[in-house]
Amino acid sequence: NKQVILVSYPKDWVIEDNLRIEETDIHLSLKPGCGHVLLQTLWASVDPYLRWRMQESKEGLYAQPFQLGKPIVVRAVSKVIASDHQEIHVGEFVAGPISLGEYALVEGGQGLWKVDPNLAPLSYYLGLLGAPGLTAWAGLNLIGEPKPGDEFFVSAAAGAVGLVVGQLAKLKGCRVVGSVGSDDKFSIYIYIYIFQVELLKKEFGYDDAFNYKKEVNWDATLGKYFPQGIDIYFENVGGRMLEAVLNHINLNGRIPVCGMLSSYNQEWTEQEGVRNLQNILEKCVKMQGFIVSHHFHHLSTYIQEVAGYLKEGKIKYKEHVTEGLENFAKSFIGMLKGANFGKVVVHISDP
Ligand code: NDP
Repeated sequence: NKQVILVSYPKDWVIEDNLRIEETDIHLSLKPGCGHVLLQTLWASVDPYLRWRMQESKEGLYAQPFQLGKPIVVRAVSKVIASDHQEIHVGEFVAGPISLGEYALVEGGQGLWKVDPNLAPLSYYLGLLGAPGLTAWAGLNLIGEPKPGDEFFVSAAAGAVGLVVGQLAKLKGCRVVGSVGSDDKFSIYIYIYIFQVELLKKEFGYDDAFNYKKEVNWDATLGKYFPQGIDIYFENVGGRMLEAVLNHINLNGRIPVCGMLSSYNQEWTEQEGVRNLQNILEKCVKMQGFIVSHHFHHLSTYIQEVAGYLKEGKIKYKEHVTEGLENFAKSFIGMLKGANFGKVVVHISDP
């Protein structure tokens, strides 16, 4: 069984040598009564939070660091090939955390939930119909409290969470603008240029979008795109973008704090402070962090709602697919550097 092992902690940016493919034994024995489940991995999810878990320091982490010499743990969609669990049966499809490899043994079936291949492509349970989608829904509805006519801004707008939250905000009647890291991206996997800014507007219904790397003064840029100010800022990146947003946030504005991508590849001690915080006080802004795992009890309701939108063509999704377990590290580094449009997934095997 090939597995992806963490062999060293990255210093700042992840490099391919931090991870290594190793052939390891998997204990196929399912002791009666233990509830263990043996899985064949079909799709693996590539997520920014994995970078958090690749550091020794426990400070500031909501999940434990990965251990050196052990496989990394990722969310995956898998097929059940053996089971001693009362409710999970051979031949069914499940999503949930696994030690990343061609096969995985999940003790007691912990964290697994069944997924329906007839509702959507299986890989969608790692994106639109999985944690990133639920993240978008929870942050928008429970913290953002969108109303028709609200001015809505999202950073990392072309990513797994960003694509969903922008469309959900549109369905709530907001005016939606997103920022992305390039006008176009060359995908070495499908050999085409993807015109991100245009795609966001034409395919995904954004009212506007801009390339933050081409803008010199983000304060002025936001003034241009939001002459009426910003009511909701869905925060994915932190740092200087947050500083600029704070100067444009409206009275009683809301900032669901989803992620702070701009700091993930730096040492925690080297982070710069954020200026303009006085706006939070003066404009009575609600700024609140949230973690998707605290909202998993909403997952089945969310899936029914969004699968309906998907069927009716009210919501669209896009994936950035890489082939093969051996390319997991490449795909992860590419995502952290912004090489993706849509949810990054690695295709490991077919059922
Ligand atoms: P994405 O698919 O959006 O991929 C990451 C993207 O971030 C890249 O494509 C890149 O796009 C952008 N990016 C990378 N570095 C920077 C930077 N320094 N400044 C601005 N943008 C940058 O990832 P996800 O959709 O999975 O995650 C988006 C955010 O949501 C992350 O912050 C993540 O941690 C957070 N998250 C939070 C959860 C929670 O429970 N709170 C759950 C899931 C995700 P580009 O530069 O082209 O814009």
